[in-house]
Amino acid sequence: MAKIAVIGGNFAGITGALEARRKLGPEHDVVLISRSANFVYIPSLIWVPFGWREVKDITVPLKPVLEKASVEFVHDEVTRVDPDSNTIYTREGEITYDYLLVASGVSLRFDLIEGLGPDGNTYSICTPGHAEEARRGWEKLVQDPGPVVVGASQGASCIGAGYEFLFNLEYAARKGGIRDKVDITWITPEPFLGHFGIGGMAGGEAMLKTFMKRFNINYVANSEIETITGDTVMLKDGRRLPFKYSMIVPPFNGAGFVKSSGDLGDEKGFIPVDVSFRHKKYGNIFAAGLAVAVAGLPTPVPMGMPKTGFPSEKSAKIAASNIVSLVSGKAGELKVKPWGKIPGLCVLDAGHKEVVILSNHLLKPRQLALMIPIPVADLGKQMLEKYFLWKTRRGLAYLV
Ligand SMILES: Cc1cc2nc3c(=O)[nH]c(=O)nc-3n(C[C@H](O)[C@H](O)[C@H](O)COP(=O)(O)OP(=O)(O)OC[C@H]3O[C@@H](n4cnc5c(N)ncnc54)[C@H](O)[C@@H]3O)c2cc1C
Repeated sequence: MAKIAVIGGNFAGITGALEARRKLGPEHDVVLISRSANFVYIPSLIWVPFGWREVKDITVPLKPVLEKASVEFVHDEVTRVDPDSNTIYTREGEITYDYLLVASGVSLRFDLIEGLGPDGNTYSICTPGHAEEARRGWEKLVQDPGPVVVGASQGASCIGAGYEFLFNLEYAARKGGIRDKVDITWITPEPFLGHFGIGGMAGGEAMLKTFMKRFNINYVANSEIETITGDTVMLKDGRRLPFKYSMIVPPFNGAGFVKSSGDLGDEKGFIPVDVSFRHKKYGNIFAAGLAVAVAGLPTPVPMGMPKTGFPSEKSAKIAASNIVSLVSGKAGELKVKPWGKIPGLCVLDAGHKEVVILSNHLLKPRQLALMIPIPVADLGKQMLEKYFLWKTRRGLAYLV
């Protein structure tokens, strides 16, 4: 009998736990530990600030889904892992494991830039609480409009969410009749618009430049923030960008507990894995999703590698399948997939319009890479949300 522990209960964690459970016999145990009691469909947080979604609409309680699938659910926060003794320490106790899947996402590094983040002078949309706070700020701006700065800081990897928020804000300002009083500036560490940390895709830069021109949005590429005061983003090149409202995506590190867990993570708290998503030092530990260490591409201003929902699920499926192979004594049958060779599938909502992004590989070389603009509606993103919530509520993690 083997015990498989999964840390994290969102895209990668729930997928990994349900897949391991589905493929293993009842003599083996699967336990999922998450500090959140819920799965949250993070991609829809971009709509929360404008009142187009409530957090409850995109939340699925984990317990019923996991219990129905015979996965034990522990609602607790992991504080440390001792990979040498196969022990997870939580606020409430300890859990031992034979195999571990780390799917604990990221920590948000607002502290790297003075004035960045909800405890400083900018809003965030990276967590449900942050998105709700960003809504309160937006409601104030609607009453008393003024300039807006939206963007991603140096070191950030989740640039796509920043673009989505930007175009949705522009659309909300137009719908709310305040657009003429809201001067909008986009700042990004990308060397060019549409780089996204993956080197860009054919036609992407031109498309985004067209959007910026058409919707009258100023932009600064290669931007590096020096500091953010109560009303100004100061860039390292000396530019001063005044704002009444600002949302900036921060850099990510791995989950906080990884730092206290010996050789589990790298210097940023991400988990170093090989192409089978197996830890480079500990053969019984795997990682998936945002938790995985993936080197960023070299860019003049540093930025990270984006890790979106599809590769997060895909890596969890591979990791779970490989854990099952090891449990079954089939160490020779481990599946492999370098992160950059996972297919790309994403819908970028651009405020009542969208861009469907498809590629056969996340990173170059790619044989197929398409950015398909849909200028009249954002139904693709909404359908993806509905589908994802439907399959998560039913525990159908094996579906695409
Ligand atoms: C605003 C925003 C918009 C996005 N939009 C898109 C999009 O449109 N399309 C797309 O594909 N991707 C999008 N992404 C990326 C997508 O959300 C991530 O790829 C996905 O959430 C990664 O899943 P994950 O399970 O690896 O990590 P997470 O979703 O971060 O989950 C981490 C889990 O670990 C748990 N955890 C963390 N620390 C601990 C601890 N110490 N103890 C116990 N549990 C812990 C958390 O509670 C959570 O359950 C977006 C991201 C953001 C922030």
